[in-house]
Amino acid sequence: MQTFDVVIVGAGAAGLFAAGRIGQAGSRVLLVDHAAKLAEKIRISGGGRCNFTNIGATHEHFLSANPHYCRSALAGYTPQDFLGLVQRYRIPWHEKHRGQLFCDDSSEEIIRMLVAECDVGDVTRWQPCAVREVRRVEGGGPRFELDTERGPVRCMSVVVATGGLPVPKIGATDWGLRLARQFGHAVVEPRPALVPLTFDAQAWAPYAGLSGLSLEVSITTQAAQAAAGKGRRRAAPAQFLEDLLFTHRGLSGPAILQISSYWREGQALRIDLAPGADLGRTLLDAKRDSRRQFGNELTEHLPARLAQAWIDTHQLPGGKPLPDWRDADLQAVAAALQGWEITPDGTEGWKKAEVMAGGVDTRELDSRTMESRRVPGLHFIGEVVDVTGWLGGYNFQWAWASAAACARGLAGLSP
Ligand SMILES: Cc1cc2nc3c(=O)[nH]c(=O)nc-3n(C[C@H](O)[C@H](O)[C@H](O)COP(=O)(O)OP(=O)(O)OC[C@H]3O[C@@H](n4cnc5c(N)ncnc54)[C@H](O)[C@@H]3O)c2cc1C
Repeated sequence: MQTFDVVIVGAGAAGLFAAGRIGQAGSRVLLVDHAAKLAEKIRISGGGRCNFTNIGATHEHFLSANPHYCRSALAGYTPQDFLGLVQRYRIPWHEKHRGQLFCDDSSEEIIRMLVAECDVGDVTRWQPCAVREVRRVEGGGPRFELDTERGPVRCMSVVVATGGLPVPKIGATDWGLRLARQFGHAVVEPRPALVPLTFDAQAWAPYAGLSGLSLEVSITTQAAQAAAGKGRRRAAPAQFLEDLLFTHRGLSGPAILQISSYWREGQALRIDLAPGADLGRTLLDAKRDSRRQFGNELTEHLPARLAQAWIDTHQLPGGKPLPDWRDADLQAVAAALQGWEITPDGTEGWKKAEVMAGGVDTRELDSRTMESRRVPGLHFIGEVVDVTGWLGGYNFQWAWASAAACARGLAGLSP
């Protein structure tokens, strides 16, 4: 039977990165993945250009039932550290928006870099190769035995890096969550996050024609506000100022993806369709200064198609000149546009989600090493853990940082 110091299950972002670092620290590492193609999620990420980190990433950009868990790992391996590696491999990159760093050319370059790091660390890679079972072994030698498609292997440490449930067609499974439960770990109920939201077809009918329309909004939801107000000294922002995209079935775009991670079934979203403006004041000023029709005035502040849909849906007199409006009615329209409350009936699900919220409960993991407190030698890294980043490179930063923490914890280990 073959013996390794460390077996890593899952050769995605976290698994590949951890394998290279653990191998380079001197351990014999086996990296196993059941998918035919290597690191598909990295390949498709960031529209094919991999938003590989966010230069401003802090623990405040992550959701978790245990919000402080990610702090130590994020501090121990920073976005600058990963950028340093990218630069060492001479991968051209650029900053796109709010600290989001992308490859200039292709995500493939990040995959090649991670594989090269594994090669430096002399990592053995088996792919495709499914792992059926993981057992603990008694006695003073290797602590685990794994049944793989290429036969049984023994090791001192197992690192679970099997990622989240999004995009099942490229290899996502719940294997890591099942393994966690097998070893007595609690799992925070997984749910799709960074995902478009859907609405009841009848309720959405007036807006379905707006499909493709995009505008900047400010968006929040009760859960986001609750998360922000958890008595922290510096509260995380409870709302996002981002673009909203209308679709046939509902809403998408960065604003919705961000808020979807906080949204819970039954809750309303609150959207300001004219962020930064005082629409009530503006409409009253326009009433004083002009004889414009209400509909024409509204198109000054909203995209014309949205203004028209709003007028139709709310049965407003769009052709009525502003001076004929009562102040209170103008203010009521403005308040509705700046506090649009709508309740999604669901999400587009795992097929369209970018990440999984929930996962292995961190309260029984060591935040410095990612090791189980229940089962010595068992580690969980990356998206399988209940740490979920915002949109914008944060999820890869968690993959790198949690992998680096695990590698530090394992440095020098031998059976
Ligand atoms: C469309 C899309 C775009 C994204 N873009 C970005 C982006 O630009 N920036 C960003 O920060 N994040 C992005 N993400 C999120 C990011 O890809 C993930 O958070 C990240 O890949 C998680 O890393 P991981 O190593 O934990 O899991 P993954 O990278 O998903 O790797 C898990 C690996 O485990 C393997 N595996 C699963 N089950 C088993 C099993 N039973 N046995 C063996 N192997 C198994 C899988 O085949 C896979 O290779 C995107 C996600 C999607 C879906």
